[in-house]
Amino acid sequence: MIDPWSSAILDYEKLIEQFGIKPFSDLLDDVDNPPILMKRGIIFGQRDYGRIIKAMKEETGFAVVTGMMPSGKMHIGHKMIVDQLIWYQKQGADIYIPIADMESYSARGIEFEESRKLAITEYLTNYIALGLDFKKRNIHTYLQSENKAVQDLAYILGRKVNLNEMKSIYGFSGSTNISHLYVPLVQVADILHPQLEEFGGPKPTVVPVGPDQDPHIRLTRDIAERFKNKYRFIAPSSTYHRFITGLTGDKMSSSKPKTAIFLSDSPEIAEKKVKSAKTGGRESLEDQRQLGGIPEDCVVYEMLLYHLVSSDAELKEMYHDCKQGTIMCGECKKIASGMMRKFFQELSKKRMIAEDDARKILNRN
Ligand code: SF4
Repeated sequence: MIDPWSSAILDYEKLIEQFGIKPFSDLLDDVDNPPILMKRGIIFGQRDYGRIIKAMKEETGFAVVTGMMPSGKMHIGHKMIVDQLIWYQKQGADIYIPIADMESYSARGIEFEESRKLAITEYLTNYIALGLDFKKRNIHTYLQSENKAVQDLAYILGRKVNLNEMKSIYGFSGSTNISHLYVPLVQVADILHPQLEEFGGPKPTVVPVGPDQDPHIRLTRDIAERFKNKYRFIAPSSTYHRFITGLTGDKMSSSKPKTAIFLSDSPEIAEKKVKSAKTGGRESLEDQRQLGGIPEDCVVYEMLLYHLVSSDAELKEMYHDCKQGTIMCGECKKIASGMMRKFFQELSKKRMIAEDDARKILNRN
């Protein structure tokens, strides 16, 4: 069982074996101009992604849905979702960004007003500063608690889901509060409502997620099938990305500040954090010269791979230098932390002007 509200690190191979997620590499060659997250295997799995590739090639239209649950500060790992949205925006997708304030309330006890504030000052501000264009016509952002179409659909869908099913998917028990029990249906409705006729559906839809969110995907696909006659739903596709490792070697998590580089950190703090990150270096310089480092086990290398180095050739050279022991961790960290500082200098400038625009998106002060 996978718990979407916990932060356990998952075994990606096992997920592919046990839950029927297919390797993304099977389809990579069919994607025109894939982003680095796809090319570098960070997006490792998919369900039915072939129909999204087809829709992109034939320009027949498709939707991307990815929610944000306002519950804390955004860290650099969250940037992966925004990078994917920016890419999909260029591919002509209709983008839906539900702000999961109902989920935040039922699973974390965060009041709606607090969620709205967090969504503006933290999430939307960062999404804009990172480059997602909310001025485009095909991007739709809403609070779950204010979207009647989504809430109505959730209620209708609930008619064909029973308590035992929710227990077996999510591990809910007799002590689970009723709001929490219900809120996965709101997420199902978030994903399926772009396929309603009044939203231009039915159409292929993709949900890019971390693998911990797969229970929602499985439930949504099952429910889409049950309501196929009524709404002509197409089962949503999904992609799965790896989580970025935290600075200490555990999963990066907003609730564990020592593991995370927050997008609101100053350039100096971000730089310092990279310098403090766990590496795949050897015990002594002598050993490292002889044996080389282990980039596969290095948080600094992951930063380069996921976020800092866009050129494949440059990245390959850094990997090679590490493996050959021709670069030591101190020097490598200096290069990576310098790149991080530069990235954060740009980001913090953009964040300063983004908040006003973020406020306008939700249309109220
Ligand atoms: Fe990591 Fe760089 Fe050290 Fe290699 S040289 S282990 S990539 S910090």
